[in-house]
Amino acid sequence: MRPLNGMDRRRLLGGLGLIGLSGCAGLPAGLAPRAASGAVSGAGTEPGLPFWNAIGPIAPVHATLERLFDITVCIRPFRAQGPRLDTETIGDTLIVHNYGHGGSGWSLSWGSGTIAVSKAMANSPHEVAVVGCGALGLTSAILAQRAGAKVTIYAKDLLPQTRSARATGTWSPDSRIALADRMAASFPALWEQMARTSFKEYRNFLGLPGSPVEFTDRYSLSDAAPGHPSPPPPPGTLEFADLGDRIRDISPHFTPVPAASNPFPTPYVRRSSQLVFNVADYGHTLMSDFLLAGGKFERREFHSPAELATLPQKVVINCPGYAARTLWKDETITPVRGQIAWLIPQPEVNYGFYYRGVSVLGRRDGIVVQTVAGGDMRGYGDDNETPDRAEAEQGVATVAELYRRWEKMRRG
Ligand SMILES: Cc1cc2nc3c(=O)[nH]c(=O)nc-3n(C[C@H](O)[C@H](O)[C@H](O)COP(=O)(O)OP(=O)(O)OC[C@H]3O[C@@H](n4cnc5c(N)ncnc54)[C@H](O)[C@@H]3O)c2cc1C
Repeated sequence: MRPLNGMDRRRLLGGLGLIGLSGCAGLPAGLAPRAASGAVSGAGTEPGLPFWNAIGPIAPVHATLERLFDITVCIRPFRAQGPRLDTETIGDTLIVHNYGHGGSGWSLSWGSGTIAVSKAMANSPHEVAVVGCGALGLTSAILAQRAGAKVTIYAKDLLPQTRSARATGTWSPDSRIALADRMAASFPALWEQMARTSFKEYRNFLGLPGSPVEFTDRYSLSDAAPGHPSPPPPPGTLEFADLGDRIRDISPHFTPVPAASNPFPTPYVRRSSQLVFNVADYGHTLMSDFLLAGGKFERREFHSPAELATLPQKVVINCPGYAARTLWKDETITPVRGQIAWLIPQPEVNYGFYYRGVSVLGRRDGIVVQTVAGGDMRGYGDDNETPDRAEAEQGVATVAELYRRWEKMRRG
């Protein structure tokens, strides 16, 4: 399998996980690691994983169309220069922008919100308004409360109806966050600050009842040997910023699974562990935290920036996500369409994997199946939010094919 480049790594941020330690005792036949063989991992002589780091049994995903219970589409609010975090004044109201986080909105939310809130609180306002109740709005609101403000969220939709609720739900802080040749020279350091702040904050949600946030294992499954050259990118492919190396010290790495420990039917496998956001529970936790701290919601749709100046609060953190394109007439936002096919949750599937252009992530609130072939350019410039059933079925079929292959391997 070829080394993972930035695009691969971003694709792989989702995953499969699981289970226990120690060798193969008690594993279903064929789901236990295979014995080393020249056909596997191209490394037949290397030792397997030590017992304390072994791959346990892998619970199969029931990849059938009968279990496909929803298809959702979401638009990533992508800005070539990175998220908008500047301020402006409308009348006597200070507007602090916090939008345009591409495919990294959940991941960067706490760090981005920290920057926005520090600007909003510069003159210690007693009250702050937040426009938007997605990942960015909710986290900014909670951070403003922590900074001592009384906060009201104004939004057309509350979290469950927002685009944020339709995200994959994984730690992907540099997914479609900017273009390499369009971001400011200062952006990488700013990004690092946001990513580190967020990552640390997520620790506070680990281990809570309902598992709003947890670490799960991810696997990259491949038939191609390491070093196998990638086909050249099609003309017009943009170079997205690849910033992950800046936080390598806090990011679990993908490491090769030796042949003797590889339970999968593909010869080349890499494994990592990544944060997963179980958005149903995590979102509920955020909404509850906000309300418990005295926060207020008001459903309201704004039709122009001038309307924000009519709010009683004179400091507004503006988090409308992709809608900034119409509300703020901000054409620096490019839509990047993404679709998820949802399979009925299986609690035992607490892992994720990437296989033949499809990414799968077992979450508590559903199994995410996403076609990601085409990499970061997939969906670029596409604002169509109508579900594509054929794409969803194809994704599920690819997952089913993996397990059929696995079954064949089991039967020898
Ligand atoms: C398929 C897919 C998978 C993704 N996976 C991940 C992932 O795994 N990890 C990750 O970190 N990121 C992921 N993302 C990116 C992430 O979902 C976005 O960056 C994030 O949701 C943006 O959040 P937001 O709060 O800015 O916007 P939104 O979620 O769109 O929220 C906007 C809010 O503003 C309100 N609003 C908008 N216009 C108005 C108006 N005119 N008046 C009043 N209110 C208004 C809306 O009602 C809503 O409450 C993914 C995106 C997609 C599409």
